[in-house]
Amino acid sequence: MLVLNPPEIQLLNHPLFLEKGLQVAMLRLDQAHPQASGNKFYKLKYNLEEAKKRGKNTILTFGGAYSNHIYACAAAAKLEGLLSIGMIRGDYFDEKNPTLAFAKAQGMKLHFLDRETYRRKNSPEFVRELEKRLGEFYLIPEGGTNSLAIQGTQEILGPNTINYTHICTSIGTGGTFAGLAGSIQAEQKLMGFSSLKGDFIHQEVRDKLNVFDIQPKGSLEIMASYHFGGYAKWKPELIDFIHWFFEEFGVVLDPVYTGKMAFGVIELIQKNYFPTGSKILLLHTGGLQGNVGFSQKTGILLPSLSK
Ligand SMILES: *Cc1c(COP(=O)(O)O)cnc(C)c1O
Repeated sequence: MLVLNPPEIQLLNHPLFLEKGLQVAMLRLDQAHPQASGNKFYKLKYNLEEAKKRGKNTILTFGGAYSNHIYACAAAAKLEGLLSIGMIRGDYFDEKNPTLAFAKAQGMKLHFLDRETYRRKNSPEFVRELEKRLGEFYLIPEGGTNSLAIQGTQEILGPNTINYTHICTSIGTGGTFAGLAGSIQAEQKLMGFSSLKGDFIHQEVRDKLNVFDIQPKGSLEIMASYHFGGYAKWKPELIDFIHWFFEEFGVVLDPVYTGKMAFGVIELIQKNYFPTGSKILLLHTGGLQGNVGFSQKTGILLPSLSK
């Protein structure tokens, strides 16, 4: 079974936090495993166990060419002695793509799907076609969100997190947020920062809470205005912020998820959103592997990962 180190809590010290009377810290899920893939490993843990229980020796999943999920699946499958197949949205294997190069080096078999075919990824007929072509596999959905993933993310908040008043996390599919919602304390508030553009995310999260039958003990709030233009979109302001955060705290963030979340939290602190005395815990959900590809594509350097 995937063994995850209990993530450490790093205190973040800054004159701004003192001035506002806040304690701010970060839960370093990005360090929960040497392959450093944050929340994705929690989402995979019970899925890989289930695959083995069902006697499947191969997992198959879907993702974009720079996906943290693809990266984590390739690494986790190898660690667990399973074969993996990645169905990638895109036309061809680009050797210079660091995410795909890593996945391939872990033994993941890569197949490329055009956008139209990719859209069929959730249809049962398509999955049956794949099974005919590629043999039996255990299917993990794009982004990795299913009930076993939720079970894994419910292990993120350990005993050392119960004294925090606010837990802040990034939202993609909302799977991690839903899992966390099921494990917060009655006095805690869970705040999700959507990395996608659109108010649909409120309904999306409500649906997930229903489907997975989660009744949060504490309160929930979703922030939908820190997407910087949409999923994987960014603005110079966000890049500047990531550099600032690294200089102040020595923590590298990514521009797709954790950078947007941390930007939102700092802005809300400045706007006095948090009552004096609040203890705020930011979750570093990982995703740093994507920084290499981001710099390649944009020519923009991000803080070095070698820390
Ligand atoms: C996938 C991912 C998320 C979002 O997780 P969801 O469960 O899809 O909401 C957040 N942060 C990072 C770094 C991720 O890779």
